[in-house]
Formats: sequence, C-alpha cells, structure tokens
Amino acid sequence: MDKKCSICGGNLTEFGNKDIKNGVVCRYCVKKASPWLSDEDYLRRDVKAFKKHLEYREKNQQIVDSFEPERTIEGKYSLYLDRDHGEFVISKRKDYKKDNADVLKYKDLKELTIFEEKDETGNYNLLMDIQLKNKEIDNVCFRVNEFPGLERESKEYKAALDKAYEYLNGFNEEDGIYFVEV
Ligand SMILES: [Zn+2]
Repeated sequence: MDKKCSICGGNLTEFGNKDIKNGVVCRYCVKKASPWLSDEDYLRRDVKAFKKHLEYREKNQQIVDSFEPERTIEGKYSLYLDRDHGEFVISKRKDYKKDNADVLKYKDLKELTIFEEKDETGNYNLLMDIQLKNKEIDNVCFRVNEFPGLERESKEYKAALDKAYEYLNGFNEEDGIYFVEV
C-alpha cells in the first residue's frame, strides 16, 4: 500500500484518508476539500482533478470571506442567501467563513428535492437534495431534522417538513428550477 498522500506527499494516518481514482488523499487534504463530496465524488477524481478541486477551494475562501447574506434560514444546516449577488451558502456551523463553506450560485441550481428516508428502526429522516450544474460540487444533500429517526406522526417530523419547505421557499422566486416534493 502507498503510505504517502498522493496530493501533498505527507504520511497517511490510520483513519480519515480517502481513496481517489489513482491514489489516496490524507486526512489533512480531505479537510481542505468540500464537505459535500461523497465517497463516489472522491473516486471519480484522479490526482489532477483533486488538485484542481483544492485550487477551487482556495479561491472559495476569498469569495466566502466577502460573502454577506441578506437573508438567513436557520436550522440544523442554515441557508444563507445573497440574492443580489446570486449566491448562497449552506452550512452546519455559524462560522461558515472559517469553515470555508462553499459559495454556490443560483444560476447553477438544477433541481431541489425533499425526500424521506426510512431507517432500520422504521423511523424517518427528512433530507434535502440540491442538484447543481457545477463542476466541483454537483450535489448537496443534507438531513433537515436535528435528531435522526422521527416518527411520521410526531410534531418533530412536522417541524422538519416545515423547515424543508422554508428552504425551498427561500429559492422560490428563482426561475427555471424544478421542485420535487415528498
Ligand atoms: Zn495530503
């Protein structure tokens, strides 16, 4: 096994590395990447493409540093909207600048979907899925309910559904976006 990171050449640790198409990325380089990348997104990228992704992330830091939302919809993940500049941020933590949260563009929005997922105990989670026409991040998917595993008839489930619609309505005035409901 290759014991060095294919990106920075640093030593790999026991946990937190990720496989890419033709190499391995260390946990420190993983930390620099977008949190929205799935394992499949890593495997789709080769060393060159992953280096390009990290270059995009460095540029994103400058963009997020000057990002100022005009509207915030708070939740487990908060949605920060800057309609004037056509940009938005979705972040789990308030300090999205420090986290270098990806600044996404309204014009890249392709499809927004709210869906539920049944867990192994028969309870439900509500998820929001955002498809984007963006080479570096083409999919953002996150759980809307704060705590996992809700009963469908509970008020927490109802609250999560309301929150999901609040996110959707945040984008509502945009043209040409295809909404899919539960
Ligand atoms: Zn590395």
